[in-house]
Amino acid sequence: MTPGCLYPVFSSSLFYISLPVNFLPLFHDLNGRPCLLVGGGSIACRKARLLISAGATIHLVSPYLCDEMLRIIAESSVTLEKRAFQPSDLEGMALVIAATDQPMVNQQVAELASKQQKPVNVVDQPELCTVIMPAIIDRSPIMVAVSSGGTAPVLARNIRTRLEGLLPQGLGRLAELSARFRQQVKMRFKHLSERRRFWEAVYDGEITESVLSGNTHTAEQLIRKKLQNPDKKDSGEVYLVGAGPGDPDLLTFKALRLMQKADIVLYDNLVSHEIVELCRRDAEFIYVGKKSCCHAVPQERINSMMIEFARDGKRVVRLKGGDPFIFGRGGEELEVLAAHDVPFQVVPGITAASGCASYAGIPLTHRDYAHSVRFITGHGKAGSTKMPWTELKDTQQTLVFYMGIKNLEKICQNLMAEGCSPERPVAIIHRGTTERQKTVTGTLATISRIAQKVQIEPPSLIVIGDVVRLHKNLDWYRPAEAYDLPLVQ
Ligand code: SAH
Repeated sequence: MTPGCLYPVFSSSLFYISLPVNFLPLFHDLNGRPCLLVGGGSIACRKARLLISAGATIHLVSPYLCDEMLRIIAESSVTLEKRAFQPSDLEGMALVIAATDQPMVNQQVAELASKQQKPVNVVDQPELCTVIMPAIIDRSPIMVAVSSGGTAPVLARNIRTRLEGLLPQGLGRLAELSARFRQQVKMRFKHLSERRRFWEAVYDGEITESVLSGNTHTAEQLIRKKLQNPDKKDSGEVYLVGAGPGDPDLLTFKALRLMQKADIVLYDNLVSHEIVELCRRDAEFIYVGKKSCCHAVPQERINSMMIEFARDGKRVVRLKGGDPFIFGRGGEELEVLAAHDVPFQVVPGITAASGCASYAGIPLTHRDYAHSVRFITGHGKAGSTKMPWTELKDTQQTLVFYMGIKNLEKICQNLMAEGCSPERPVAIIHRGTTERQKTVTGTLATISRIAQKVQIEPPSLIVIGDVVRLHKNLDWYRPAEAYDLPLVQ
């Protein structure tokens, strides 16, 4: 909360309420106003911090003060009466909070305050409160307050946690930008309905997106342009979004937010069905993936589609498996967009190496086994002698091969030819992080025979190094369908 921000309270006109009561949500301006806080323990500290962040002047009354409260007093301008509560403490107070561990004291404070019609809150005793403290989501100056009317505070906090993820951190900046332009918008549009239409277009379009992605300067330029020419359509944009390795829970908040804004979704075959489903329902979905059985859309066509759609004012989500900048051709696609002046954003995703290794219980580095990790393409050149095989020999280095299943045998042979021990452990993780994850382990000498026998298919990741030994103990992910394939000797 920024100091001076309106402080959310829920207010009841009844005293000694019989639950449940429907509280009226109000936001209380406490900036510079005196508030009485009775109590000097850890709960009182929590309340003190909230009051301070709302800009209130705290009058603290308590014969006892915990260490944290002493710190708060030292850091802020709290006035302290180090003694027991007395009725005259209530004089002139805008809000009263009783936070002692003495039920009798709390009750006395509440009764006296209520008689004087002063808003009073007693911690954890809703029956003594005329105002209660909600769970707060703070995007100052935007505040969201959640209350269960004192019936289920843990549930209210649980709801708060869920909402936290939905509300971008930049919302406060958006409100501040709105405040800066409010007057100009009022001057420009005389009618309320015109103003409303203007702001709705701002909150739904590229200006908001620029603010949320941290580009406040661009947003200001755009809003000025929009004030001059309000009917001009927003220009489109491409969001290059990393969808992670498969588990939808591994998406970032930002990825999800942009996916839910999409007009067009271009997605690859590595992106799971559940993740595609999370995009805005009425978006247009275009599959551009590469699967051996399906005809792939050529890269040039994907590029030209992105350019055409964005120029037509559309928000295009280019969804890619894992991270778009790791073996994802993300860089190449962006170079084309940049050359055509199409605005874009990149959202990183969890790459297959991180996702698969975590879900298979194989740390990619470990102080005892590996001091570095290397991501390598196992496609094309991997089978040939053009790879820097000698650099891959280091036993303290974990090697992760993407797209390497078809070249598995050659990769192992080349490493052994370079002097790597045939006993060097290898894991193959198929469809990591999904319900269908399968892990198979072996050594450089045995893994290709094992993989052949159990018919491991793409998409699979090859992890080579001593860290693979940890899989036996750290393998924690066991959904119904995920399993370790039997070891074939
Ligand atoms: N950009 C992606 C990688 C694309 S290359 C990323 O950052 O993860 C495609 C290769 O990634 C596949 O051949 C496979 O080796 C690996 N891969 C991607 N998702 C995978 C998964 N869920 N399980 C195993 N391997 C995966």
